[in-house]
Amino acid sequence: MPYDKEELEKFRLSGKILRETREEMRGFVKESMLIIDVCEKAEGLIRSKGGKPAFPCNVSINEVAAHYTSPPGDTARIPEASTVKVDIGVQVDGYVTDTAFTASFNAEGRSMANAAELALKTAIENIHGDMALGKIGGLIENTIKNRGFKPISNLTGHSVGRYLIHAGTSIPNVASVSLTKVRTGEVYAIEPFVTLPDAIGRVDDGPQITIYRLLKAKSVKSDAAKKMLKHIETNFRTLPFAERWLIGVVPAEQHKAAFKELFASKAIMGYPVFVEASKKPVAQAEHTVLIKENGCEVLT
Ligand code: MN
Ligand code: MN
Repeated sequence: MPYDKEELEKFRLSGKILRETREEMRGFVKESMLIIDVCEKAEGLIRSKGGKPAFPCNVSINEVAAHYTSPPGDTARIPEASTVKVDIGVQVDGYVTDTAFTASFNAEGRSMANAAELALKTAIENIHGDMALGKIGGLIENTIKNRGFKPISNLTGHSVGRYLIHAGTSIPNVASVSLTKVRTGEVYAIEPFVTLPDAIGRVDDGPQITIYRLLKAKSVKSDAAKKMLKHIETNFRTLPFAERWLIGVVPAEQHKAAFKELFASKAIMGYPVFVEASKKPVAQAEHTVLIKENGCEVLT
């Protein structure tokens, strides 16, 4: 077993905080709302329950499949009739859980969200230790196609670990001949993404970057950049963060230049948003599970 009892209790607490947060967020997301209010509500709920966000709350709309969080002072709103993925994570002493749901304000989007939930349920009901990863991908793909939709082929679930959101193993959303097996005692996030049947069914990097992480704690020139980098190292380690989370770390008039310096010097890196290649809408569902010999325990 890779984790001892105490570590598993931290995963379970992390998952409980995240589950409660997700269920409160389901009723919160509405058309015309400021996206930044959704992000801050979710992150605030996580903190109020004693957890820390493992990454910024992602609010990814329509053809944006993942990796959008509000930049500082974001004035963008949830569009009418849109399909919104809310993807959130918690860490407790570094033990990460990850979950997502789709709120859709149109009938087609709600059907796609239902297909994503059903594919996730099917994967959870069938996954167990020593199962081939490609087989899980096949179950997810078939469930989505039976509902008349298409999976996103180049987005996957992933093993998670301590201070690690992607701990090395990917769980595909399409059938593959991968003989790599799910390991008993490991913790994985399973996350089917669903799009329309006539979509290309993969994502490309978009132009926007709103989520960052520490790349290398190297020397930077200005005192403000040094202070900002120290804050990132201490508070987020290698986990993703939003620029919003750095407000107030250095005087307001130095913030922009310091942040720019960190990015230009490659002390930090950014994750581009993922956009469906044919600009078709995307839905998502996600849970984090602990693998058992004969099944799994849903942590979220
Ligand atoms: Mn997620
Ligand atoms: Mn995930």
